[in-house]
Amino acid sequence: MEKNEIPVGSIIFNPSTGELVSKAHNSEISHNDPTAHAEILCIRRACKKLNLKRLDGLELLTYLEPCDMCKEVIKSSRISQVYFLLKNNNPKRKTIFNPKFKLINYNNENLLKIFFKQKRIKD
Ligand SMILES: [Zn+2]
Repeated sequence: MEKNEIPVGSIIFNPSTGELVSKAHNSEISHNDPTAHAEILCIRRACKKLNLKRLDGLELLTYLEPCDMCKEVIKSSRISQVYFLLKNNNPKRKTIFNPKFKLINYNNENLLKIFFKQKRIKD
């Protein structure tokens, strides 16, 4: 428990083979990174190790129920099953600073639309 890091650890494993793919612990303070939650570091390490963008079929075991940020990253990674040992009942987590999001009027071409249109033509 270095530097008062919240002691949360995670592992990613392959349920078919039992292989441990990656492991990580919370490192927000030591990395000066608010996204350095155990689950996210674990996903990054697994993707790097396997040289894959997605982790279909792999499973994640973590100490504490993942926060909303991690849940979204877990969804994007396509991890199929998450196990956790403790419910995340921290009421403060829901009242953390709430940034404002605003859609800006933008008149140039929609790069995303062009990207996906070209991708559909190629695929
Ligand atoms: Zn998290």
